[in-house]
Amino acid sequence: MDKPQAEQITHTDVAIIGAGPSGAAAAAWLARKGLRVHVIERTLFPRFSIGESLLPQCMVHLNECGLLDAATAGGFQVKNGAAFTWRGCDTAIDFREKFSPGPGTTWQVERADFDNRLIEGAIAAGASVEFDTRVEDFHADPLKPSLTLVDTHGNSRQLEARFVLDASGYGRVLSRLTGLSKASTLESRCALFTHIEDRIDCPNYDREKILIGLHPEQAGVWYWLIPFSNGRASVGVVGSRDALQAAGADDESRLWSFIRQEPRLASLLSRATPVRDTGRLEGYSADVERLHGPGFALLGNAGEFLDPVFSSGVTIALDSAVRAAPLVQRQLQGDSVDWDSEFEQPLRRGVATFREFVEAWYDGRLPRIIFSPNQPPRIREMVSSVLAGYAWDTANPLVAASKRRLDALADSVGEAAEPALLTPNA
Ligand SMILES: Cc1cc2nc3c(=O)[nH]c(=O)nc-3n(C[C@H](O)[C@H](O)[C@H](O)COP(=O)(O)OP(=O)(O)OC[C@H]3O[C@@H](n4cnc5c(N)ncnc54)[C@H](O)[C@@H]3O)c2cc1C
Repeated sequence: MDKPQAEQITHTDVAIIGAGPSGAAAAAWLARKGLRVHVIERTLFPRFSIGESLLPQCMVHLNECGLLDAATAGGFQVKNGAAFTWRGCDTAIDFREKFSPGPGTTWQVERADFDNRLIEGAIAAGASVEFDTRVEDFHADPLKPSLTLVDTHGNSRQLEARFVLDASGYGRVLSRLTGLSKASTLESRCALFTHIEDRIDCPNYDREKILIGLHPEQAGVWYWLIPFSNGRASVGVVGSRDALQAAGADDESRLWSFIRQEPRLASLLSRATPVRDTGRLEGYSADVERLHGPGFALLGNAGEFLDPVFSSGVTIALDSAVRAAPLVQRQLQGDSVDWDSEFEQPLRRGVATFREFVEAWYDGRLPRIIFSPNQPPRIREMVSSVLAGYAWDTANPLVAASKRRLDALADSVGEAAEPALLTPNA
């Protein structure tokens, strides 16, 4: 769909690079406060993006920036938890049974439609958006930062702002241009994925949960299956590059070879057909030295990105947007803002919780905890809360002291739970 192009403005209050969830959320919040907001987006929307499973914490953030109604109108597949399968055994976490207050359900969304609805909502709130135009350069300045924009015809112009938010996702525009990029402490991994007509007719399959499968033999290889409301689903496999390369001659055969190796997925998807080419993303984990600088701040994936497991990406993207936007407003009103203590430190606290869970997933502590058959309900609720996105709720002991508590929990359930002790597949 072609969008009407915004007039070629050269001055704005807030320039936002990228119209994904973090850019749209910040744009909507700021435009509602009466600020002039101009979003620059490299592609034409709707555009494909991976990352379809949201967390209930997202609903709070969508509400805060006034985009909840726009998203609700999408009629997306309700999601109430995460199901796990390993060596023929199943378990599930229900987000409605959780430690922290807040919504217990969310959606599984086709991102092309979801992201489009969010940016349309931001436009309705008063933001202007320039599609098919990329940001190529940045001039840092505490009061008048500026961007060089280049359209698809190669025409370039300057856009001067009073503040710049980088929401460019994997583009990581400002961290590259300002030298803030740094390697993630997480291992580099690779994902292969596609969308399918899933044709699942198993009566025990719960479309209201993401299904996460662990490879029966290869540690560190896992799968996602995210059903949508229209009979389609997103399916993917994650592992080291070497592990995935070894499974076939091309990405499509590698993905389907891995799916056939996991009994539950192989059975559920026996009649599935792909509706798009197999995609590949690798080396996506990334970090930055700082999430802010003179006249700018980094949102969502343009700052730190961890890992797809547990679907924290859009939640962190929206969290960063609703944290940054009020600070931008205050700064433009003349208040002094300490971006370190008011933005970076609190945002990173929740990201650190997710990082600890990601590390515990790959080193085997979390699968042990999740598959343990004898977990006290209160512990289950604490795990559920973090997996539902409430990673900033320090009342939860698994947030306040993630590593120590996860270590202790993993020790208390012992070595790898024997599949025989778990609930067998129905
Ligand atoms: C394999 C995989 C699976 C994932 N699964 C999930 C999941 O299930 N749930 C979840 O929450 N997250 C998931 N994620 C993460 C999720 O995709 C991202 O965290 C999320 O999209 C980040 O949102 P964002 O707004 O920061 O950036 P994006 O959504 O990436 O949006 C950035 C926008 O900026 C634009 N842009 C880039 N460069 C420029 C430029 N130079 N000029 C102008 N515009 C530019 C891009 O075109 C894009 O539209 C997954 C990630 C991976 C790698």
